[in-house]
Amino acid sequence: AHGEVLYVGKSTQVRTRLLSYFRLPWPEHRHARLLRETSRIEWEPHPSEFAALLREVRLIRAHLPRYNVRSARPLDKWWVITIGRGPAPRLRIQRASAAARSREVAQVIGPFASRRPLQDALRVLNDALGLRDCGDRVRMHTTDSAELFEQTHPALQRTPGCHRYETRRCLGPCIGATSEYAYRAQLTRARAVLEGRDDTPHQHLVREMTVASAALSYERAGWLRDRLTALQEFDAQLARVREALTRPSFVYAVPGRDGDDRLYLVRHGRVMAEARCSDPDAINALQAMERAPAQAPTGAMVDQLDELLLVESWFRGRNGADALAADTVVGALEKLATHVRSAGLAAERQGG
Ligand code: SF4
Repeated sequence: AHGEVLYVGKSTQVRTRLLSYFRLPWPEHRHARLLRETSRIEWEPHPSEFAALLREVRLIRAHLPRYNVRSARPLDKWWVITIGRGPAPRLRIQRASAAARSREVAQVIGPFASRRPLQDALRVLNDALGLRDCGDRVRMHTTDSAELFEQTHPALQRTPGCHRYETRRCLGPCIGATSEYAYRAQLTRARAVLEGRDDTPHQHLVREMTVASAALSYERAGWLRDRLTALQEFDAQLARVREALTRPSFVYAVPGRDGDDRLYLVRHGRVMAEARCSDPDAINALQAMERAPAQAPTGAMVDQLDELLLVESWFRGRNGADALAADTVVGALEKLATHVRSAGLAAERQGG
């Protein structure tokens, strides 16, 4: 009644699906409760499933509808590593949906299918680089914060929030044992590791393992080997994510209902622009965009994660989709024409 968007959904049979909601038990069923709150239902026809899915994720991103956020949206199934803001940001594992809603996230790395391997690898990385892993409630006091001028006063002496500082696995930004500058330098190294540009923590573990083996300290060597394995498995996952993000541009042709065929310019896993094939001006604009140079991103943008996942799962789940993708607009149009002829759609469209 106040104009809030409560839910966005996609269906090939909107009428049947909506009617089914009216038969659900209230208040037990979520969709029955949704209907009670609803004062208006709007619908939009789209020429293809791909077009409808794209519109759905964009509407959900724009409105964050309450009933979508609570449901099992694609973003809820994925995990990401986020880097927050503040004087001593931490690497954090979050659900992709939570990261997309958060205002505190500065950078996102992912998406990943499961949490467990990330936990093991981040523990190793945090320990190797001295980064904090405590929660947001722990207050940070770096040496460059103004209040530390008073630190010599006995009443202001602090004790670390956990044992990691004493065991030299954290720089101790909670007790003024490091400057914001020094901490951020380590965070920059962590970014380089996550982006595949630095393998210092790996080398360090290998060196320590060799020393432990030479000293016949096999238990420690085994523990170090497990840590190295966790990092290496994590590397393989990161490489897959990078591959998806740095995939070069391509143009995807999608045959639409009633001849409403569309072209989509996909760059680094995301849809940058689209054009109706029947609109010459839109096709020209798409060609101009296609020629424009683009810089490969090093990480997913929070607000575009859902679109990245959509494109990923669409091309992974449909063998035929690649057949309609080409390097250029012209190539995609040619593939579309061949597809329309071979699928017998041309005669059908002329008949219509
Ligand atoms: S030593 Fe302090 S900053 Fe480091 S993880 Fe523990 S509580 Fe957090």
